[in-house]
Amino acid sequence: MAKQRFGQHFLIDLSVANREVGYAKLTKDDIVLEIGPGQGIITRLLAQKAKQVIAIEIDQRLVDKLKTTLPENVTLISGDALSVDFQLLPQFTKIVSNLPFKISSPITFKFLESSFSKAILIYQKDFAERLVSIPGKKEYSRLTVSVSYKAHCRVLEEVSRSCFSPEPKVDSSIVELTPRKKPMFDVENEQFFFEFTKQLFNHRRKKIRYTIKTLYGNLEQLPYLDQRVETLTPEQIGKLSDILWYLK
Ligand code: SAM
Repeated sequence: MAKQRFGQHFLIDLSVANREVGYAKLTKDDIVLEIGPGQGIITRLLAQKAKQVIAIEIDQRLVDKLKTTLPENVTLISGDALSVDFQLLPQFTKIVSNLPFKISSPITFKFLESSFSKAILIYQKDFAERLVSIPGKKEYSRLTVSVSYKAHCRVLEEVSRSCFSPEPKVDSSIVELTPRKKPMFDVENEQFFFEFTKQLFNHRRKKIRYTIKTLYGNLEQLPYLDQRVETLTPEQIGKLSDILWYLK
């Protein structure tokens, strides 16, 4: 029985699994991180192509089954991927996963704290649309700004819900995430920029003036006060964040 609380929608279409792994362009030098191997459909393909696979699975029942059936070059870790210290793992070069939807956002931010060359990830389609959105679109969000600041994101294909069992309520997308060598632009303080971005999108329908007044009082000399955050580019948000970082 699949456990809903762990977001268990197992991939049952081998051609999708093959394409997902193919997009990663693995070589025998690659060490691949996989979050949630489940029944191992992706894991086994990864193990054929890469030097080593590190797979983190939270469900002990699945870990017990995988333990005896996975190839030797798979290192299986039992635990919550959000709590595992990635610094203590062998230095992985790529990430390939069909992610549990509930942790899509925190695990993506956690990935971006580590060093790797490419991630190929299956997300819910609406999450993927938010990752690749642009100013002015309804999907443009805190996620778009914070992730695109650190990585290039590209939707590679859509995957029908019928490719999973049990079938989820929504379709999915395969996304390529490529970390930027340098962030998209410079900011004075990244933590402040991320927090400020979050605050702005908490009031996405209000003018910037409103959010700034709520947070910092009346500051009339700032740019973009009459715009809404959903129309600002990530760089413009960064510029505003820098001015406030100095003023506050
Ligand atoms: N990779 C498999 C596949 O494609 O069929 C399973 C994908 S299923 C969408 C997500 C998997 O992640 C499940 O096996 C689930 O138990 C596991 N999982 C859920 N939350 C997790 C977490 N916090 N850390 C590690 N694994 C997790």
